[in-house]
Amino acid sequence: MGHIIPLVEFSRKLVLLHHHECTVTIIIPSLGPPPEAQAQLLQTLPPAVSHVLLPPVDPTILAHVSTDAKLFLTVDRSIPHLRGAIAALAREFPLAALVADIFGTDAFDVAREFNLAAYFAVPSNALTLALCSYMPKLDAEVSGDYRQLAEPIRLPGCRFAFPVGDLHPSILDRKSDAYERILRHAKRQRLADGFIVNTFMEVEGEIIEALRGEEFANGRPIFPIGPIIQSTITDDGRIFRATRQNECLEWLDSQPPASVLFVSFGSGGTLSQEQLNELALGLEMSHQQFLWVVRSPNTTRDTNASYIGPQSNSNPFNYLPEGFLGRTKGRALLVPSWAPQIQVLGHRATGGFLNHCGWNSTLESILNGVPLISWPLHGDQKMVAVQLVEHLKIALRPIAGEDGLIRREEISKVVRGLMVGEEGLAVRNEMNVLKEAAKNAMSEEGSSTKSLELLVSQWKNRSGEPSLGT
Ligand code: UDP
Repeated sequence: MGHIIPLVEFSRKLVLLHHHECTVTIIIPSLGPPPEAQAQLLQTLPPAVSHVLLPPVDPTILAHVSTDAKLFLTVDRSIPHLRGAIAALAREFPLAALVADIFGTDAFDVAREFNLAAYFAVPSNALTLALCSYMPKLDAEVSGDYRQLAEPIRLPGCRFAFPVGDLHPSILDRKSDAYERILRHAKRQRLADGFIVNTFMEVEGEIIEALRGEEFANGRPIFPIGPIIQSTITDDGRIFRATRQNECLEWLDSQPPASVLFVSFGSGGTLSQEQLNELALGLEMSHQQFLWVVRSPNTTRDTNASYIGPQSNSNPFNYLPEGFLGRTKGRALLVPSWAPQIQVLGHRATGGFLNHCGWNSTLESILNGVPLISWPLHGDQKMVAVQLVEHLKIALRPIAGEDGLIRREEISKVVRGLMVGEEGLAVRNEMNVLKEAAKNAMSEEGSSTKSLELLVSQWKNRSGEPSLGT
């Protein structure tokens, strides 16, 4: 969902900028029928945006590999179907460009076969693009285990450095089954005609400028076009009703302004049973109001396993500490698995957001001026946490013990700090400054609007060219 939501919104914007004279097709690899939230989202597409679900890949090839490797394999095995889908589209329309997601750089070859411009859309931020640009260098220059590196990592354009341990776990471990695949895609990103990033100059301008000067971009354009976030209004003007919307908004209506902490770990993040207990007891200890999207704990310590494959069917509330629901009744609303996040963040009662540093969630928080508690779980999230806490100063971060567990006392302290403490006031002020900058970037004369217009004009210029393979 973290990849599809911004692509859907980007598509809507393209259609608007083209005055409805273009069409967009979102082509999605699959493992089976789409999850409910995805199906619901795809039903909201305007007439000029359609979607194609590629045939599910054979699940047996995904047995015994990590979640990251599963993602890569699913996309790899879908490339022949992608070729077929593009051939079908090319018979109907003159195609201009193909935009590939981070796991899909093999789609560039398909784009070339059909004489299409090939663009790379980063599902996260410019920092992630900087990591992609740096990875081949890291691989070539460092032999052996990265964890032995004494020096922190410094990426292009970053004024802040990262401890090596904050790198994406599949990158950190050269022996992981995803490492070579990530490296291969990082190298192939250079084959793109341009890069599209859901960010804005006011927040990551230094990184974008640095990347533009790098061999990686090699003169090809980088388009910061954000923040683009999920809209709540459908194209025919109806308010999009998300799962559990009424329940959440009615409860928020009964709470004082800026008094509720929203707790959610993205579209699939999960905690261990032990960490789930500590979080519950820490929230209880903080004596603050909270709205928590509860998921059943992971059993394999794989915090992103439920992004792909079946989510647990068991009732997540069964895993909460004894008596917790009764003790927090009245000041807490718990919802299983999914909440209408955009609507919750936009509600006046929401005063803080404890989140896994997912980039869409971060942008949604920025646009609503809601300060953050950073709780990174996986992928590039630890790096984003450093960016949010130390560089942008819009988030507080609880400190884990040496065993990796964040304890209830620490959670309570940070929650109180954000909601009622001096430190919370400081991050709230920084967040409000960034909120204005984000709005400006998306205004008529804003940097992201200009960037998107430039991208559209490049594609318009190409749309007269014939697609091959038709
Ligand atoms: N989301 C939501 N309700 C939920 C969980 C997630 O609407 O209960 C949406 C959220 O608003 C965001 C996306 O799913 O647009 C999650 O993207 P993000 O990049 O933050 O995290 P990811 O899921 O990719 O880790």
